[in-house]
Amino acid sequence: MRMPVSLLLLTLIFPSIVFSATIGNFQQQCHAPNWITGKTEIVEEVNVYQRASDPVLGFTRRMPNGHWRTEYNVDRIRYFNIPPDVMVFLFYHECAHAKMNSESEAVADCVALSDMQTDGYLSDETYKRIEVTYQRFGRTFPSGVCR
Ligand SMILES: [Zn+2]
Repeated sequence: MRMPVSLLLLTLIFPSIVFSATIGNFQQQCHAPNWITGKTEIVEEVNVYQRASDPVLGFTRRMPNGHWRTEYNVDRIRYFNIPPDVMVFLFYHECAHAKMNSESEAVADCVALSDMQTDGYLSDETYKRIEVTYQRFGRTFPSGVCR
């Protein structure tokens, strides 16, 4: 099933900052503890452009005020024609970095898989597509051993 490539848009609060990710019919917020106060907050989701050569599809960063922000590299996501369910995984993966306050790719992959399973978004086909996408970038999936 192919969805239109109008990814990750919508729910605009400010021109470029949104508080949920939208991919086709999928729309979800990421909640994570503020890394300074520990209080649970909504993670900002931002589309960034003209960075197709950046080697990441998404990046989740700590902001000075303790918030988390996820930046999606839209041009690279489009350039590599990432399937919609792999984009959903990307959302869960980036959210896991914030939720777990961790830079570990293994932690992010494993928590993302677990959360996707819980939320009913993980099928065998989706798992395979994530694996194939990682292979395209020369990476093994998942990035570590998941319990
Ligand atoms: Zn990551």
